[in-house]
Amino acid sequence: MKNIGILGSTGSVGKQALEVISQYPNKFNVKYLTCNTNYKELIEQTILYKPDFICVADETTYNTFKKYVKSKSIKHKYEIRRLESLTKDEDIDIVLNAISGYQGLEPTLNVLNSGVDIAISNKESIVQAGHIVTKLAKKNDVNIFPVDSEHSALWQCMIGEDKSTIKRLILTASGGPFRLLDKNKFNKITKEDALKHPNWSMGNKITIDSATMMNKGFEVIEAFWLFNIDINKIEIVVHPQSIIHSMIEFIDGSIKAQLSVPDMRLPIQYAFSYPERYELKNSIQNDFSQLRRIDFEPVDLDKFKCIKLAYDAIKLGGTYPVVLNVANDVAVNLFLNDKISFLKISETIMKVMEKHSSINKPNINDIREVTKWTENFILNIYN
Ligand code: MG
Repeated sequence: MKNIGILGSTGSVGKQALEVISQYPNKFNVKYLTCNTNYKELIEQTILYKPDFICVADETTYNTFKKYVKSKSIKHKYEIRRLESLTKDEDIDIVLNAISGYQGLEPTLNVLNSGVDIAISNKESIVQAGHIVTKLAKKNDVNIFPVDSEHSALWQCMIGEDKSTIKRLILTASGGPFRLLDKNKFNKITKEDALKHPNWSMGNKITIDSATMMNKGFEVIEAFWLFNIDINKIEIVVHPQSIIHSMIEFIDGSIKAQLSVPDMRLPIQYAFSYPERYELKNSIQNDFSQLRRIDFEPVDLDKFKCIKLAYDAIKLGGTYPVVLNVANDVAVNLFLNDKISFLKISETIMKVMEKHSSINKPNINDIREVTKWTENFILNIYN
């Protein structure tokens, strides 16, 4: 039996993780659930999945949540705890970090410091502090299990291989909703347009990241840290059907790929079940007679400027990836709140990166400071 904690259980990945867990009551047990503000959903999950501990991370929602809890009759024994104490709990097997955005970093560090394996869906932790996260995992001998579909694919392709024989990693990208849209029409993109992803159903933040393709830029950085591969050996190819989740080419020219119908439950379940594989319940089988073809296209860096910004950030190193990550988060939020246009997202990030003086080999305090600096810089532009 594996005891599992879920950070961000009311988000898209968190909910799908609970679905996976509920299929295998003899293998997985929910130890704790946390949300940021969505406490009503958290209580529903608490009644259904009976965790030992629950937590609402957002301070301003906390009191309302406590009152609400009292009004509900929760039959099993449970305790309300603070996020920090939960993430420092050593008595747990795996924590899934499914928090959205850069707020996910501190919980990731706490889990790793506690010597607990982490299934990571919060790619922002790695983008922002990849060197710290990977070093901590090594030092404390803990596993980082990728939950991102691309990195799960790369991980699965890598098993049994010698890493020195890898020629390149090829990350596949659906291309998002604007793959076919003319560049001249990008100034007309609305929030509603950007929130319609063709293949994946995900939370708002990552859906916008997919529309700008910053998500793929982040994934390049994530692959760089997770697999410790030269950045020049990590490539992106657009593959609109999202059936191939990524590929590895080896020095002899052989290419391994992982394929499946797009379903986030698969990488989540694999992170939980590894090194075993379990049947994925209620899944759709890939039908090649229906699929018939698989397409590839080069990525248009002129249209999707965020990808170039991400490569620039990781090549420049220092605190540039922090700025990239935080600036993107703040800009996406402004876009979701109708404060800036779609095109302004990449423009804003570029502007902040230009003004930034980077710190080499940043420690966690440097990262916190640069995070604040970036937030303030952007808020000053738009206020
Ligand atoms: Mg992905």
